[in-house]
Amino acid sequence: MEEFRLDPIDFTFDLISSEKTGCRECIPIENALKSIEFKKGYIRVYEMKDRVQPSRYQLDGKFFKRSNAHGYEELIVESENHSSTFSSYTADDIEKLLLIISERLNELKTYEIGKNISVSRYVNGHDYWDLVILPIPMQNTQKCHVCEGLNYVGNREVYKTENITVYVPFSPKKNELLRITTIKHTSIEELDNIIAFDIANIMIKIMGKITKEITFDIKQSGSDHFEIEVIAGESDPIDALGITRINYFPEDSAKKIGEKMNDGK
Ligand SMILES: [Zn+2]
Ligand SMILES: [Zn+2]
Repeated sequence: MEEFRLDPIDFTFDLISSEKTGCRECIPIENALKSIEFKKGYIRVYEMKDRVQPSRYQLDGKFFKRSNAHGYEELIVESENHSSTFSSYTADDIEKLLLIISERLNELKTYEIGKNISVSRYVNGHDYWDLVILPIPMQNTQKCHVCEGLNYVGNREVYKTENITVYVPFSPKKNELLRITTIKHTSIEELDNIIAFDIANIMIKIMGKITKEITFDIKQSGSDHFEIEVIAGESDPIDALGITRINYFPEDSAKKIGEKMNDGK
């Protein structure tokens, strides 16, 4: 059972989770939701049942808030083997993949699960995308933070096409190398083949010239303008949404520590 908790001081969330870290796709799962043609085979989409509880709850309590609002998670898997072929894909392949993800998010949009989307891909691991949609954190959507940020990129920009900019963020996340975004306000659901092709080429360039030990994380929160975070090493999709994963329950921890402190020795 997982649970979200809100820190009342800085309004950041923890996800308290017993989930083991490691390759999600190598955890045995069954019954694909759907199959999509890709290259000479099929992409399969698996719902992650342990996390799938489309939420009808708001966080409860007045000050210390908690909720078992889990949102939704699925894996979009290109291959059943634990090896990576992503860096050998052509720009056409990656373009097609990005459009498949966009189409899938369009389908999921009808369920109104939440506005926080993270679709992450560790380039050196298993060939899958880990898709998470959450109703939290709540976002202030008055102005688009991505469009606003682009006005001040200045000397932090490292690459540009007609449609896309690649830059080092003003305040990068932990291990974040670069961020890719569309110059024009565009949601991931309205991604077209022109933008997808530009992004595919940039991804290939980054993997070829910078490093292959990265995670690409397509992220969209509140303002409906997607960004792609390029993170060094392997990264949890929950992290991209600004949520810290904690692998113990505070109450269990208090019990264990309390017993030792009070055992009278
Ligand atoms: Zn694996
Ligand atoms: Zn925007």
